[in-house]
This record gives sequence, structure tokens and C-alpha cells, in this order.
Amino acid sequence: MSISITFYGAAQGVTGSRHVLDVDGTKILFDCGMFQGRRQESRERNSAFPIDPKTIYNMVLTHAHIDHSGALPILIREGFEGHIYCTRATADLAKIMLRDSGNIQERDAEHLNKKRKSHARKEGKKTPKNLVEPIYTVKDAEACDSFFFPVSYDQEFDVAPGITVQLTDQGHIIGSASAHVTIKRPGKKDVRVVFSGDLGRPNMPILRDPVPYPPCEYILTESTYGDRLHEPIGDMEAQLVEVLKETKKRGGRLIIPAFSVGRTQNIIYFLQSIFSRGEIEPIPTYVDSPLSKKATKVYFNHPECFDKETLAFLKKEDEDRMSNFHYVESVDESKALNDMPNPMIIITSSGMCEAGRILHHLKRTVEDPKNVICIVGYMAEHTLGRRIRKKEKNIRIFGQEYELNAGVVTMNGFSAHGDQAGIIHSLEHLKDTLKKVILIHGEETQSLPLKEKLEDEGHKNVEIAKLFSTIVLED
Ligand SMILES: [Zn+2]
Repeated sequence: MSISITFYGAAQGVTGSRHVLDVDGTKILFDCGMFQGRRQESRERNSAFPIDPKTIYNMVLTHAHIDHSGALPILIREGFEGHIYCTRATADLAKIMLRDSGNIQERDAEHLNKKRKSHARKEGKKTPKNLVEPIYTVKDAEACDSFFFPVSYDQEFDVAPGITVQLTDQGHIIGSASAHVTIKRPGKKDVRVVFSGDLGRPNMPILRDPVPYPPCEYILTESTYGDRLHEPIGDMEAQLVEVLKETKKRGGRLIIPAFSVGRTQNIIYFLQSIFSRGEIEPIPTYVDSPLSKKATKVYFNHPECFDKETLAFLKKEDEDRMSNFHYVESVDESKALNDMPNPMIIITSSGMCEAGRILHHLKRTVEDPKNVICIVGYMAEHTLGRRIRKKEKNIRIFGQEYELNAGVVTMNGFSAHGDQAGIIHSLEHLKDTLKKVILIHGEETQSLPLKEKLEDEGHKNVEIAKLFSTIVLED
């Protein structure tokens, strides 16, 4: 029996997770993520699916983040006929995130076409024929709904004849899982393969800790922070208190750019906890992102994914606690925040300050030293978020230059990914059974040091997956 895995994304990089397990010609896809990077390359890599989706028997989705789910509308548009197995929370979350992504693709194409048309007009030419199509639309995203096949954590299910899968909690975002595959072989021992999905961290607010992997012969593990150690999450609340005090002292507003799913809910949780303890008088807090509102609703609909502390916290009768938090939906409401009195907190997307409502809030606040910008997430190179984090004196927003006079505070402890110590710890108990560790979902600056470290720890066979390559597990 031949068993192999081919990597169509998130190999030597972090985005576009798509891994195909092939057992004697039966193909199971694990994750179907969107590639994110430079605009042109992203368009090319996302526009068509790298293999014929009709040849995929079924697929398993580890969690709803777009770099793991964002290419589902393309997979389905191109003829995939199987099930998308995932947890219930992941299915609910993916549905809203894919619609949001479809909307972004439509607006993106509109924007590009507008630019092309106005360029043609300036040159005195006719409207160009080669207008771009969105990579996918909201309608394409909606077409995915009936393909989801939700399963419970720990429930074993058949993903193909002779191949079972079990999902366990990964503590990364709500509904996140690692997938444990068992392949039955007549007259031989079963082969067990684990797909890590994104590994979470213990002691994170709201979510349960990652469940240890079961014994297996092969594991594909993420390596996003294979060469980094995070600050403890426990220190973040105290740091946030200091930021709130500083905002009050300055008398301005606190702007927090945050991803709508995961990070925003964590920040809200910490703020609620600080305000309900009475340590600081509550500051009106506005969550300015329609996607955040929808995602937060999904969180509340899935108490089966929460840890004990969160459940207890939610049960506590404390109606005042929520009255301080407001969700902003329409653009007009968002603009109206401008004229509201300080102090206030605005939590808004995008997380890296590249698009969306954050730009409007920054434009109005960066020049006033009374305000504070709090960076709570990863800021990629060449993004506005990175420039603010570096406290560059002059920054550009919507093509116009602004002086950065507001205070800037960076908090590094919020990451939802396990760090180097976390990854090593997650594999520690598997040394006896593992035949191979395959590193995926990491830049080489992270996966190479992790490979060395794992070898130092006694793991004998550690391999970094290469994009578009195949690793044969058994033949
Ligand atoms: Zn993720």
C-alpha cells in the first residue's frame, strides 16, 4: 500500500495550507487555504486550484482562518464533490469568513478595474477589455455551505474506505483542531498520521488548552514560530492595565488594530476582566468591525469550545459588564465615533493596518499626542502596521503623509500559535513511535532552527516540506 503526502501550500511559507494525503490513489485534502503575499503572485496562485478537485475524495478542515479555508470557494466552483469535515464551530465561522473574503475579492477586483479604466481614460483610450474578475464572489462563498459536514471533537469518522479521522482541540481559535488519521492495512499494522493544523498555546483566555497528540508514526507540524519564544499570556493583562492608565492620563483615545477572529475576542475578554474587577473605571469600548461582531456571536454560540474559566465568567450575573462594549456596524456609525468624547477605546481591523476601517481611525488620531496606538498582533514587513510599530516619524495613509505623534505601545504576548518551546513540548511524548516529523507552515528562518533543535532533542527523522513536492510515507 502506498501512502504519500503532496504539499500545495504552506510549505517553506505560512499561507495557503493545502496538503493532499494519497492512499493507493484515494486523495484526501487537508485544509484549503488562500495564499497571501504580494498582490500579483497571490492572484495567480489563488485563481485556479493546483489539482483537479474532482479527484479529491473528501477533505478535512482544521480551522476557519482564511490561510486554511480561503480557497474552498474555488475548490467547489471547480467541481469538488466530497464532504468538508470539520468541527461545528469551524463550519459556522468558516461560513461567515468566506463570505467576508468573497466580498473583499469583489471589492479588490472593482478597485483594480476602476484604476485600469481611469488610466485608459487619461490616455484617451477605450475602456480596456482585459478587466479582472474577482478570485471568487460572495455567491461562490455561499455555495460552500452545503458541503460542510460538522463533527464533534474526539468523534472518529470514516473519511474514505479504510481511513478514519478524529479531530481534537488545538486551542488556537474557536473550533480549531488537529486531525489524526488512521489508515488500515490488511495484514499489517495501521499507519497513523497527524496533521497539526495550527498549534495553540496553553493558558490562553477563552479557549481550552491544546489536547496532546495521540501516538503516531508520522506528524506534520506547523512551525510558524519555530525560532521564537513568546512572552507569557499571563503578563498581557497587567500590560494592558498600564496602557489604559496611560490613555486616561493623556486624555485621548486608544486605537487597537486587531484581527477580527481570535485576537479581537481575546482583547475584549481581557478588557471585561479588568473593568469588572474595578481596577480601572470602565472606558467606553467600540468594536468597529462587522466581521468581529458576527465572529463574536459564533463564539457565544459554541460554549462547548470554552475553557472552565470562561464558562464561569459568562455565567456570572453581571449585566453592567457588557453595557460598556458597543459593536459598530455601518460606515456612518463608524464615522460618528469621530465626534464622540474621549477617552474611548476603538478595536478595529485590519490587523496589519493595510485596509479597512483602521485606516480612517489612524488618519484622524496619529498626529495627536493625546492618543495611544496599541499593537497586539504580527505586523508583516512593508505594512503600515510595521511602520507604526517601528515608530517611524512620518507615515503615509491613503497616499497622504502624517506625523506620528500618538503614543505607540507594542504587546507581544497575544500570539495564538505555540512557540518553539510549545512545538517541542507537543512532540516530546511521541519520540518512541514517530518515524518522521514533517515541518510545514513556517518560513525557513523558523523551520530550519526548529529542525536543528528537534534533532538535538533526539528526533531522528525531521524533514522540511518543500512546496509542490511529495513525501512518500510508506510504499
Ligand atoms: Zn490559524
